[in-house]
Amino acid sequence: MAKKGSGGLKLQFLGATETVTGSKFLLYNASAKFMIDCGLFQGFKELRLRNWAPLPVPVVDINSVVITHAHIDHSGYFPVFVKQGFRGRAYASAPTVELCKILLPDSGFLQEEDAVFATKKGFSKHAPALPLYTYSDAVASLKYLAPIPNGKPFDLGHGIKVKLIPAGHILGARFVHVTSTIPSNRTILFAGDIGRYDDIISKAPSTVKEIDYLVMESTYGDKMHPEEDVFSRLEKIINKTVERGGKVLIPAFAVGRTQEIIYIIKKLQAKKRIPSDIPVYLNTPMGIDATQIYRKYADEENFFKHGIDEDSFQLPNLHLVHTQEESKSLNLLAGPAIILSASGMMTGGRILHHLKAYGPDAKSTLVLVGFQAAGTRGRNILDGTRSIKIHGQPIALNCDVEFIDSISAHGDYEDIMQWLSLFNRPPKTTFLVHGEEKATAALAERVREKFHWNVVVPKYLDEVELK
Ligand SMILES: [Zn+2]
Repeated sequence: MAKKGSGGLKLQFLGATETVTGSKFLLYNASAKFMIDCGLFQGFKELRLRNWAPLPVPVVDINSVVITHAHIDHSGYFPVFVKQGFRGRAYASAPTVELCKILLPDSGFLQEEDAVFATKKGFSKHAPALPLYTYSDAVASLKYLAPIPNGKPFDLGHGIKVKLIPAGHILGARFVHVTSTIPSNRTILFAGDIGRYDDIISKAPSTVKEIDYLVMESTYGDKMHPEEDVFSRLEKIINKTVERGGKVLIPAFAVGRTQEIIYIIKKLQAKKRIPSDIPVYLNTPMGIDATQIYRKYADEENFFKHGIDEDSFQLPNLHLVHTQEESKSLNLLAGPAIILSASGMMTGGRILHHLKAYGPDAKSTLVLVGFQAAGTRGRNILDGTRSIKIHGQPIALNCDVEFIDSISAHGDYEDIMQWLSLFNRPPKTTFLVHGEEKATAALAERVREKFHWNVVVPKYLDEVELK
């Protein structure tokens, strides 16, 4: 561990250690402090409580922030930063900045909703319960967030330059390549979330040849995405449910997953593999906005695969659901329908109302299409729970439950091993973060065994000197 005040370049892990959420890495030298990613902890209560704990350094002492991508577990703590007095700049790719403009205010809105709920139920020791930050706090934080170009070194001052490199994963996702010249030259790559080599819509993660220190995710460190044809899988699920006259409920992350599902449905309809007259409801205002941003950046050739264009995320039978009234009316639909709604792990949002309405319906199908973090309702359902509580009310899930694991935006361990195999030399140290304990340990073992690299699995608040 680093000695305080020794003047070298240091790295402290303020999140995403032994868990997948709360990515926050403090990089500092004698004259300045930088934060790479500014993510919110999600899932278990003891993790969420860390969102309330003071950081080891006052935020006013942090010079700048660089965000790898817009997902809340990488960006959602930034409004707290600004609320606590951060007046530096946060930088990210242009699409990430745009996506944050919808994700962060929504996160503030959800914090407020949670606080109202906690007050009603008397969960909180505060009366009334306080939100971590509000919608307005999040909106106010956005003016401190600025885009920086791709692939060009950007000077943060104090001997630190950063370069953003396309990472796959979701629109705008980047690796943050840091060059530090104080006290001497070294490079660090914060890999954020790493995409896949066989993603449906996005290109493979960029190849990195060499780096002194690597901070890397391990979400799927012990898993391989099943080799299945996701088009056929969704085709079968939709046709089976439609024949029964049921609803296909898809809780989907507003950014990334929603657009992929629309793209898959579009392809299936075009090939007449599913009926094209079944209404598809996109019931997430944030998902609607994110889809607009995906369309706007459809020519981002460093993210999208060849053949993807604006039209790829549009359907003739797609209904955009804006108001709560329209959302409620979906619970009274007579015929079959496909409903895409948020949140992706069913921790909140409009999907819960649909789950209440159609979860008990044996004709309907709930399709989980993304990673479900431990402690969330989605994970409990995935693990076999068929009686869940929504808004304090017990709900029996008689609907079919399907899990399509193969459309993850994260590389599995084979993707990651492939990405690592393209390095010309081993990093001095590879720090494994952003994984549940078992996944991280499995990947650490694999990397040590195959490449003989020096792999470290840091713990919460661990601090190291990057010599
Ligand atoms: Zn992500």
